Amino acid sequence: KKEETAPAQVVVAGAPIITATEIKVNVSMPEVAERAAATGADGVGLLRAEHMILGTGVHPIKVLEEKGEDALVNIFAEGIRKVADAFYPRPVTYRTLDAPTDEFRGLKGGEDEPEEHNPMMGWRGIRRGLDQSEILRCELLAIKKLREDGYKNINIMIPLVTSPDEVKEVKKLAHKIGLELGKDIEFGIMVETPAAALIIEDFIKEGINFVSLGTNDLTQYTIAIDRNNEFVAKYYRENHPAVLKLVESVIKTCKKYGVKTSICGQAGSRPAIVEKLVEWGITSISANIDAIDTIRKTVARTEQRVILDAIRNKKNNNYKMALIIFYFFKTFLKI
Ligand code: PEP
Ligand code: MG
Repeated sequence: KKEETAPAQVVVAGAPIITATEIKVNVSMPEVAERAAATGADGVGLLRAEHMILGTGVHPIKVLEEKGEDALVNIFAEGIRKVADAFYPRPVTYRTLDAPTDEFRGLKGGEDEPEEHNPMMGWRGIRRGLDQSEILRCELLAIKKLREDGYKNINIMIPLVTSPDEVKEVKKLAHKIGLELGKDIEFGIMVETPAAALIIEDFIKEGINFVSLGTNDLTQYTIAIDRNNEFVAKYYRENHPAVLKLVESVIKTCKKYGVKTSICGQAGSRPAIVEKLVEWGITSISANIDAIDTIRKTVARTEQRVILDAIRNKKNNNYKMALIIFYFFKTFLKI
């Protein structure tokens, strides 16, 4: 494991750009970990697991059948280790496997994947994770093993949740292997369905540390546009007022309960949407590697505008005051 090093700072025109909102990066393949870490991001807001499996060319169930549990645990552990190592001690949020049947059918041993009319509405996300808990168990074991190796910078989140019962079930599964989600390790959910957004308080009551807005899926489910269907692609828009209304309400409700909020969908790489997220008080933004610099500048500019507006406006609310204090405090600490 690496020596602890301070996160790099991005220097633009000789001065570091400092933001109160954390700027994180999305990582889909462990191979890009070093490049992602070099952006100076405050951590990884989304580490996808799918490519760790697709890269092996073998279906995880086949790995389990032919090579056993340790082999599958190692595949996940080695993928996560690369990223946790490149970012150490900055936090890395691992998203448990979100395997769509159409993508996994091409793998060796993937012939049994069901044929679905619309895989995007089908057997994927945490519902599949719980149906095939023998795979999810290996992911949790991989994280436990990495923690024992000293990688304390890994968090876990689960995809496509629709019911607080899923949170309960995942916690039970982790408990069985001696991992207490939300206690030993930060644990969160992705808000990717209108269901999760609308009953966010029920999830908070179940005990989560953070939520991450998965706007790619949240958009498709809110405005009924299959994100893989080219015939309706022109209607797909993350800035649809209904999507933004759900996002705003999740951020504000979480804020009320002290639950951290992040975004890891593509909307987090779009400056016009990021401005709104910062105004609503999001805790962190996770963007694509190539968008980090632009998003960092957008966030800094928006925070300054919010602060200046608050100073000009005599009727400051608590949020704006807290932001002013936090912003100056953080600036003072970093410089
Ligand atoms: C999302 O849905 O916004 C997301 C980040 O997850 P994925 O794109 O992997 O479905
Ligand atoms: Mg998603």
